[in-house]
Amino acid sequence: MTEQVDGYLGEALGQLYVKRYFNEDAKKRVLSLVNNLQRAFENRINHLDWMSDSTKLKAKEKLYAIIKNIGYPDKWRDYSGVKINRSQYFENILALNQNDYKSQLAKLNKAVDKTEWGLDPATVTAYYNPSVNKIVFPAGILQYPYFDFTADDAIIYGGIGMVIGHEMTHAFDDQGAQFDKDGNVKNWWTKEDFQKFRAKTGQLAALYSTFTVLDTVHVKGALTLGENTADNGGIAIAYDAFKLTPQGQSTEKIDGFTPDQRFFLSIARIWRVKTRDAFLRTYVNTNPHSPAMWRVNGPLMNFEPFYRAFDIKPGDKNYKSEEQRVRIW
Ligand SMILES: [Zn+2]
Repeated sequence: MTEQVDGYLGEALGQLYVKRYFNEDAKKRVLSLVNNLQRAFENRINHLDWMSDSTKLKAKEKLYAIIKNIGYPDKWRDYSGVKINRSQYFENILALNQNDYKSQLAKLNKAVDKTEWGLDPATVTAYYNPSVNKIVFPAGILQYPYFDFTADDAIIYGGIGMVIGHEMTHAFDDQGAQFDKDGNVKNWWTKEDFQKFRAKTGQLAALYSTFTVLDTVHVKGALTLGENTADNGGIAIAYDAFKLTPQGQSTEKIDGFTPDQRFFLSIARIWRVKTRDAFLRTYVNTNPHSPAMWRVNGPLMNFEPFYRAFDIKPGDKNYKSEEQRVRIW
């Protein structure tokens, strides 16, 4: 029943949800985090050694053109044409379907409303839509353990910061890179830069294909390439953005851990899952994401600050030499 209410009256339920679980202050804090991430991403683009200045300019244009939907829509959907009657389930569903059909028809021959939300505020997920160049973070994911208004920045940037960085990087993964800042499939790369990009994504795919999930089962590097690109970029961007905060620049320990260690622990925490082997076998063959463990271990073995934070040395498990590490963004 809850699912029905969310499915049919998502933005009505959403209004009640955000009133209780996501206030104006939380929205402001998430927005400032997103803006820090954009700045950090710009800085990384500026310092890329494999991309020409002309492509960098286009990449930054695209980065700053990203539409940001945070928490809940500014304008709520109108359900005023629907009368809900507690004792008439079938009629309620009919009325809601008719209302939905009408609102779809009303879009005919009009310009696309790029601010429109594709998700209800109470949903626990996030996405990037390349055809409108937009990131969406409903209030449902802006909760513990991803986002906790009372937590320190290390925890927040390692949690929701990583997720936001992930979605932003989708604008620049193997698929997203083919769309321009307005969401059209249109090349904005020089031929040489795109070749270099392809070579790097090829290295990433090869690295992930070496990860063992179960006995003879490995991660499928090609299937998961876009998601892995987003994980690697997302963590790097979130870390750089974290370093812009006062805590990111301090060395003060909390609970025995440095700010950097807390940032990395937070990343590991958001991907804690428990799965049966049979499920994993299906997952690896059908899901474009790497299994949760490799969403943490994969990017971190490529990321120098992680080595520094925990003093990781050659011979340690998952250690990669600098030449073996893959870095795209
Ligand atoms: Zn993704």
